[in-house]
Amino acid sequence: MPEPLAGARELVDDLVGDRAAEWDRSGEIPDEVLRTPAARGLLCAGVPADFGGLGATSAANGEFTAYVGSRCSSLRSVMTSQGMAAWAIQRLGGPRQHAMYLPKLAGGQLAAVAFSEAEAGSDLSAMTTTIEPDGDAVVVRGRKVWTTAAHYADVIVVVGRYGSGAAAVVVPVSAPGVTVRRVPLPSGCRAAGHADVHLDEVRLPADAVLGGGQPLMLLVTTALAYGRLSVAWGCVGILRACLDAARRHARDRRQFGEPLARHQLVARHLANLLTAEQIATRVCEHASRGWDSGSPDMVIATVLAKQVSAVQAAQGAATAVQVLGSAAAHEGHVVERAYRDAKLMELIEGSTEICQLILADHAVSMAA
Ligand code: FAD
Repeated sequence: MPEPLAGARELVDDLVGDRAAEWDRSGEIPDEVLRTPAARGLLCAGVPADFGGLGATSAANGEFTAYVGSRCSSLRSVMTSQGMAAWAIQRLGGPRQHAMYLPKLAGGQLAAVAFSEAEAGSDLSAMTTTIEPDGDAVVVRGRKVWTTAAHYADVIVVVGRYGSGAAAVVVPVSAPGVTVRRVPLPSGCRAAGHADVHLDEVRLPADAVLGGGQPLMLLVTTALAYGRLSVAWGCVGILRACLDAARRHARDRRQFGEPLARHQLVARHLANLLTAEQIATRVCEHASRGWDSGSPDMVIATVLAKQVSAVQAAQGAATAVQVLGSAAAHEGHVVERAYRDAKLMELIEGSTEICQLILADHAVSMAA
């Protein structure tokens, strides 16, 4: 059986080349760099073959995500959004909606997922966006913020209140009442197309609604799970890029008559970076094994993977900057970008503190 991701890394190498820094500066990834892998199903490679996708395992998709993340965190962020949208549709939608949306996402359409609002960041239970039935239609009203990839997206999966519970709704950006406004000058992942999304009386057919009536936080947790694991694997990629740059520099650069790597305090930085990359890889592999075997532990393993990998990536990127010294003190250097990008990974998909609260709850319930 052919490997679903055969040739995917080579395609990414061809498309990204050495242009990630240029996109970071311009804040824009060229259309063909997004549409080419999207048309091959690579941005949501976990979509099963029955729905027109590649059917990659979580482990294989994760390693590919790390590879993309090692080349360009902005492209990896768009990939995370695409995969999360497909996952939300797969988990929350029915057979008709699977047939309606998933082949398009696996075939080149681009998607984003909008949870956050100005007053609902960590506390998503405060969201006020509403999805209201109106005859054979629904009307969506709300203001979403910081939606990754919304600037590029054809459709946005919007989460909102629905009756006494919640729902997600698939919103074409071309629908009347949808306005997408870019977040100006993000500090990292600058070309990931972050945007605020205004939904003013957006009228859609009722079959655009997914998972209608579920408890809000259950729906959010379901949809976020994919994003958390994808970000975690993206952090593995950041660590690999940093380790690679730091070890090359420490081998080649000489000070005090010796390569930097021979100075023990620099060697310790390299050991710490390798350790960080290995820790992050192992927790992500563990979580992906849970996804691939359908283990009930997969949700908590995913939170653990996200928490550990994001913290390791933020610390590891700072360590890499230290090893490179002034060589990394240029905007757009791979390690300088990693430093900015990695910090944001500690804020999103459940910040470090929110993940810690979930892990603490889990620890307490284990002890009971
Ligand atoms: P706040 O919730 O205001 O938190 C600020 C600080 O307080 C954080 O350190 C937080 O951990 C801490 N804190 C909050 N509550 C507690 C608590 N109870 N206990 C301890 N500490 C606490 N949203 C989307 O919907 N879709 C996207 O695609 C998306 N992409 C994003 C991409 C980027 C680069 C960024 C920066 C944000 C993105 N977001 C997205 C929004 C993101 O999910 C939120 O920024 C995140 O949930 C944190 O919310 P906040 O920024 O409002 O911080």
